[in-house]
Amino acid sequence: DKRIEDIKKIIRDYQDFPKPGVLFRDVFPVVKDPSCFKKLTDLLVEHINSLPEKVDVIVGLESRGFIFGPIIAQALNIGFVPVRKAGKLPGELIQVEYSLEYGKDKFEIQKDAVTEGQKVVVVDDLLATGGTMKAACQLMDKVKAKVLDCLVVIELTDLNGRQKVPYQMSSLIKY
Ligand code: 5GP
Repeated sequence: DKRIEDIKKIIRDYQDFPKPGVLFRDVFPVVKDPSCFKKLTDLLVEHINSLPEKVDVIVGLESRGFIFGPIIAQALNIGFVPVRKAGKLPGELIQVEYSLEYGKDKFEIQKDAVTEGQKVVVVDDLLATGGTMKAACQLMDKVKAKVLDCLVVIELTDLNGRQKVPYQMSSLIKY
């Protein structure tokens, strides 16, 4: 697809960010370019429309899942729900703890945001080691949602992150 090539051209690489040895892929130039951003969101929406079952809710992961998730949800005429780091969401919450390279972090979702049996697609910008997406899937298990697909814009295939993800894993651009 020519659109994927156009998007790939403007994703910027930063060596040694946020720490030495890491090659950071920056997707914000895509968001800055309205025609490229449109191509990207169209591709994500087409992908979701190609799934065999109808999606009820888009679940976006803090923070760059918040850039892509709502715009896709709006195009599909369905709702968007955020998964956030601990301490950011009000009300009754469901929580999952996950390990990072150094220490632990927690993801939270509002208790009534997704109901049992709802079909969801989990959206983030990038899959690296897969730890973030795995934690989000565990949170979806806790709320008894049915994960139809985990969808990212970029997948860093060398890190084998998709092996950690317990549900169908999809990406538009692979490095
Ligand atoms: P993982 O848990 O798969 O190792 O890391 C994925 C998470 O870290 C995602 O939420 C993503 O936003 C962030 N991340 C890790 N590496 C990069 C990168 O190179 N570029 C961007 N944009 N995000 C990254």
